[in-house]
Amino acid sequence: MSKRDYYEVLGVERSASEDEIRKAYRKLARKYHPDVNKEPDAEQKFKEVKEAYDVLSDSQKRANYDRFGHAGAQQGGFDFGGGGDFGGFGDIFDMFFGGGRRNPNAPRQGDDLQYTMQIEFKEAVFGKEMDIEIPKEATCSKCDGSGAEPGSKVETCHTCGGSGQQEVVQNTPFGRVVNRRICPTCKGSGKFVSVKCSKCHGSGREKVRRKIRIKIPAGVDDGARMRITGEGELGINGGPPGDLYVVFRVKPHEFFEREDNDIFCKVPITFTQATLGAEIEVPTLDGKVKLKVPAGTQTGTKFRLRGHGVPYLNRSGRGDQHVKVVVVTPTKLTDRQKELLREFADLSGEETHEDGETSFFDKMKKVLRGEG
Ligand SMILES: [Zn+2]
Ligand SMILES: [Zn+2]
Repeated sequence: MSKRDYYEVLGVERSASEDEIRKAYRKLARKYHPDVNKEPDAEQKFKEVKEAYDVLSDSQKRANYDRFGHAGAQQGGFDFGGGGDFGGFGDIFDMFFGGGRRNPNAPRQGDDLQYTMQIEFKEAVFGKEMDIEIPKEATCSKCDGSGAEPGSKVETCHTCGGSGQQEVVQNTPFGRVVNRRICPTCKGSGKFVSVKCSKCHGSGREKVRRKIRIKIPAGVDDGARMRITGEGELGINGGPPGDLYVVFRVKPHEFFEREDNDIFCKVPITFTQATLGAEIEVPTLDGKVKLKVPAGTQTGTKFRLRGHGVPYLNRSGRGDQHVKVVVVTPTKLTDRQKELLREFADLSGEETHEDGETSFFDKMKKVLRGEG
């Protein structure tokens, strides 16, 4: 996908002042923020607007962009690919109101986790139930989440005086904002642990491996993502856990190729089968299927086996299988076979038995004679 011009994205002139750029950004960001705008492409538009603003609001990056375009703006090691499909936006209140109204000790949802799952071609087609092990965090079993070595003394945090919060003054595109943040020393607990728990080193959490049963839906495609609610990281201050996203990576098949819900394959046929016609056996996802190849079939001819494709995810029915026949020229012939083919060639003469006004052979002969 080609990137749109940053000035065009923000709807400003190339000569726009910093103030005009800021105003345009503020207006568009409000319009497209995913917390407010539920249209399907709002997220994409929001990211586009944010990216344009990140560059045009920085005089150095803007100068590079003006001279070298998108490639110039990305110099200096910053990259907009980040964030993946989830995360990446703050809450809209963080953005416009500085987040100062939030209580850092309030319950918060845990982080989402992502797990990439390699599956076989046929598992993606027909679905399967599988157990996976997810490394994730759990409350530390030794200190029960306090982070303090059992029996040790716990004091009041010196940085925040026990409130768990800290005030930070920040310059934003919308002016100076005083943020109340979680105290970085005590992470909002207001307590100072003198002897850290030897198992979790004071975090109050430990890594565990949790077994989860995954039901792969029939028809899932490479890159598809499934959400499993509540299987992400632990919530903070008693908040709900995050979600787990399973991303499917489908291994290629040595014979079948897949495009959405259709399957494609190439099937070899002999010269005689192509010429005289035959009933051949074709492998499908459901096992062998008979296919009638009519007499005079050319190499590359395509046949369709209805309903032998991949099941649709959200409705009943399946795609089709497309079979391309490839005529294989015989290589190891006996003397007798050669003799018969020579006899065949003599009988055929110049005739090529092709339909149509100008045959493939005729076209080539014209070029050989220097007429084409
Ligand atoms: Zn611990
Ligand atoms: Zn503190």
